[in-house]
Amino acid sequence: GNYTREEILQMAEEEDVEFIRLQFTDMFGTLKNIAITARELPRALDNRCIVDGSFIAGIAGESEPDMYLRPDLDTFAILPWRPQQGKVARLLCDIYCPDGTPHERSPRYILKKTAREAKKEGYTCLVDPECEFFLFHTDDNGVPTTVTHEKAGYLDVSPVDLGENARRDIVLNLEDMGIEVESSHHETAPAQHEVDFKYGEVRTIADRIMSFKMTVRTIAKRHGLHATFMPKPRAEVNGSGMHIHFSLFKDGRNVFVNPGNPQELSEEAYYFVGGLLAHSKEMALITNPIVNSYKRLVPGYEAPTELTWTKNNQNSLVRIPGSRGMETRIELRSPDAAANPYLVFAVCLAAGLDGINKKIYPTKSSSRELSETDQKTMKIENLPGNLNEAIDYFEQSDWIKEVLGTEFCKEYAAAKKKEWLRYTREISAWEIEEYLYRI
Ligand code: GLU
Ligand code: MG
Ligand code: MG
Repeated sequence: GNYTREEILQMAEEEDVEFIRLQFTDMFGTLKNIAITARELPRALDNRCIVDGSFIAGIAGESEPDMYLRPDLDTFAILPWRPQQGKVARLLCDIYCPDGTPHERSPRYILKKTAREAKKEGYTCLVDPECEFFLFHTDDNGVPTTVTHEKAGYLDVSPVDLGENARRDIVLNLEDMGIEVESSHHETAPAQHEVDFKYGEVRTIADRIMSFKMTVRTIAKRHGLHATFMPKPRAEVNGSGMHIHFSLFKDGRNVFVNPGNPQELSEEAYYFVGGLLAHSKEMALITNPIVNSYKRLVPGYEAPTELTWTKNNQNSLVRIPGSRGMETRIELRSPDAAANPYLVFAVCLAAGLDGINKKIYPTKSSSRELSETDQKTMKIENLPGNLNEAIDYFEQSDWIKEVLGTEFCKEYAAAKKKEWLRYTREISAWEIEEYLYRI
């Protein structure tokens, strides 16, 4: 690990840390925390701090409401944007039941379990996410809008505007927290940005995505902007995705590489793609978890719709980028940043390994956008069209229950059904516009 208990106590002392936030992620990928004073830190490090689980999504429903927070010492970080005197630090925590067993519906636990099972087969999974988001203006009352005055597009160098300044500050703060950023750029839509961090093991990167979102939101606000990871905030421009690049290592070797094959890709690489494609519908409720997610997954906006793999087709679910050797990897393009990263990595890793173990060969590939007729003749399938369809695939899947646990799936699906019901009962602005005068 990075730090021992003693080192953390010492750092807190030396750095004049006044508050420590004990953080964890709920079922829906929301970061939660309680703040303790520095005096209480030894108690926290003894795993004695508790939260009332009754009101936390995915934690509630136990006979005993008190849940214990076990800080992961490796995640100690000082929040760089808080006051420099009387600093604020944070620790990410695992959730434990009063009887000392890990809480099995906790997303971080689910990912650790999946990674451990992969390890038993000798595999370590490294991931590299591409997080996209919008920086919008707030109105005179500070209420977030979907308005921007920006005109910049993909990789544009705009005259230094609010968004560019905020992005620079975001990157500096992330680096301060020990999160290495590889690059950042302006994305295709006005006010849309992307930050790519350095690859790492699934659990580390899931933790980093949670820290990343917290940082982006906080820093944007300081610049008078509202950051949103909503998948499709504006209908007429690209939405925001969270593409994920996967590579799999065994005995220090990238499993996806085989220099002897024409494409220099191993059988395992193709099977991993096959597994992702085969399970993509049942895991859509995890990779694309909200009503709005499905409004991003439409043709014409660089978001995937077809269950095919590709080198270059924007509509394909899986892409195999051109880099080879140790950097050979597989990109899944469906996930969006509304998703819970712990759960996304868990289901994707399980899907890829299932592909390898069952030798699922991906038969459908495409190198160009396919017309509707092409799609029909090639019998190409699509991702679920909306949240309701995704719920159906999720509920019918025994495989997903094995990965996430039956209890977790039951509670998650029930919550998602309520969300869909609330949505269908709304009268939208579109309906009023379309029908009120005419009908
Ligand atoms: N914003 C696009 C999406 O919705 C991705 C653009 C890109 O290829 O980076 O997935
Ligand atoms: Mg991008
Ligand atoms: Mg990409």
